[in-house]
Amino acid sequence: MKAFITGGAGFIGSHLTEALLEQGHEVFILDDLSTGSAENFRPFKSNPKFHYHIASFTDVPLVSELVDCADVTYHLAAAVGVRLIVESPVRTIETNVRGTEIILAAAAKKQKPVFIASTSEVYGKSTDFPFREEGDLVMGATSKGRWSYACSKAIDEFLALAYYREKKLPTVVGRLFNTVGPRQTARYGMVLPSFVRQALSSEPLTVYGDGTQSRCFCHVKDSVRAIIGLMEKDRSYGEVFNIGSTREISIEELAKLVKKQVGSASEIQKIPYEEAYAEGFEDMMRRVPSIEKIRSHIGWEPRFSLEEIVGDVISSIA
Ligand code: UDP
Repeated sequence: MKAFITGGAGFIGSHLTEALLEQGHEVFILDDLSTGSAENFRPFKSNPKFHYHIASFTDVPLVSELVDCADVTYHLAAAVGVRLIVESPVRTIETNVRGTEIILAAAAKKQKPVFIASTSEVYGKSTDFPFREEGDLVMGATSKGRWSYACSKAIDEFLALAYYREKKLPTVVGRLFNTVGPRQTARYGMVLPSFVRQALSSEPLTVYGDGTQSRCFCHVKDSVRAIIGLMEKDRSYGEVFNIGSTREISIEELAKLVKKQVGSASEIQKIPYEEAYAEGFEDMMRRVPSIEKIRSHIGWEPRFSLEEIVGDVISSIA
């Protein structure tokens, strides 16, 4: 099988590439290296089944050619990280919405299956835990930049589902919850690589707010297995699936766990949100997925424990 991955040089994209190559598939990636890195695909460069294009998805002829030649397209290219979102809102909205429009329009010409990567951010301020795919999405004010990310990804979802309903295009939406693992950079403010880097260099671990906010962290290898599993089943088309772990941990507890596993004497430093983020940022206190739908659909659930995940991230950075 031939697979086309947008954002293939990114953190999740490079793990998806690796998993598909391991299964013997041929993989074509497109990445403009805006947040991805050539370092992420260096290990596959000598594999004859791996092909890369450093270009933007706005190169419509190239995108069309790649979508056409592939049996399945995984659209992962997106603006990532809350820091980038607050600092570059125009780029965030345009990247997320235009990219999906271009991919879906290209795929629709030949009815090619497409996976659209969405995010748990779309649940916004909902407090209806655990988040279910059919639950309401609760967005904040448009004056708060953070919500532009959630809204742009929600538009991507609407578009994917509209293509399915109106044009019978086989699309699948995966809402990825906090995904972590080797190759994730701390550059865009993601918490786990940041804490690990800080603990390894004996710097204070920067906990934003009071640290009682919590998240559920899923190993990228588990997330990639879910993405591939969904695209292997015809019955996934036209559906939205949560992909994440249900093990919840507060950010302060996460900082303690990282310290313990690194064996670091770093202090834990609480930083008020106003100092940590630019104006227009609102954090979410909890984010917990229901994974009943994907479990009953393809029998997927995470295999890596949080301790194993933290260990993997430490050994990849150390
Ligand atoms: N966070 C933190 N210290 C950091 C980076 C992030 O306390 O150095 C917090 C952040 O405020 C949020 C959580 O960790 O509550 C997860 O942040 P991340 O950016 O990794 O993902 P998000 O869930 O916000 O998309």
